[in-house]
Amino acid sequence: MKKNYTLEYPCRHDKKKDRLKNHRTEERREKKRKQKEYDTETAFRCAHCGMLVNCSREYSGVNNRNHCPNCLWSLHVDLYKAGDRKAECRARMRPIGLTLKHSPKKYSSETTGELMIIHECTACGKISINRIAADDSPGNLLALYESSARDEPHQQAKLKDMGILPVSAADLTTVFSQLFSWQSILEEFSAAEQGAEVSLQESSTIGE
Ligand SMILES: [Zn+2]
Ligand SMILES: [Zn+2]
Repeated sequence: MKKNYTLEYPCRHDKKKDRLKNHRTEERREKKRKQKEYDTETAFRCAHCGMLVNCSREYSGVNNRNHCPNCLWSLHVDLYKAGDRKAECRARMRPIGLTLKHSPKKYSSETTGELMIIHECTACGKISINRIAADDSPGNLLALYESSARDEPHQQAKLKDMGILPVSAADLTTVFSQLFSWQSILEEFSAAEQGAEVSLQESSTIGE
C-alpha cells in the first residue's frame, strides 16, 4: 500500500507541475509570437533616424505606413502602388516638400485638398507622394513646408513636369489648419467676420 501511495503522490504532483509547465511554455510561445509579429509586421527601424516605428493603424491612421513619423524619411520599397513592396532600390527617400491632393469632388476649391508629403529617392531620384499619418510630427511637417518654399529651381521644375505643385506661401492657412486642426477656429472666425453672407453661400452650395 505504501508503494502505491508513493507512486500515486508524485504522479499527482507531476500532473500539477506539468500543467504549470505547459502554461508557462504557452505563455512564452505567445510572448514570442507577439514579439515576432511586432518585429516583422507592425514595426520597422527608421533607416534615417533609427527610431523604432510602430506600423499599427491605431497609431498612424493609415493602411500603409511608409515613412518615419519623426524625421519623415521613407524607403524606396514600393514599385507600382503604395504598399506593394516590389521595388528593388531600397534606398532612403528624402522628404522634399508638401503638396495638396485635390479631391475629385466638384465643390472643392483649388486651394483645398489633402496635405501630402513629397518624397524623392536619394539613389534613383524617384518621386512619390504619400499620405500624412496621424502621428507624424507636426513640427517637422511645418519645417518641411518652410524649407520646401526655398527649393532649388531644378527641383521645382522636375515636380512641375510631373504635375506636382508644392505648397506655397499662399497655402499657409490650409497647411496650418491640417497640421494643427485650426479648421474649426478659422471657420468660426470667418463666419463671424462675414456674417450672413457666409450662411447664404453655404445654403446655396448645399442646394446644388
Ligand atoms: Zn526617422
Ligand atoms: Zn530608388
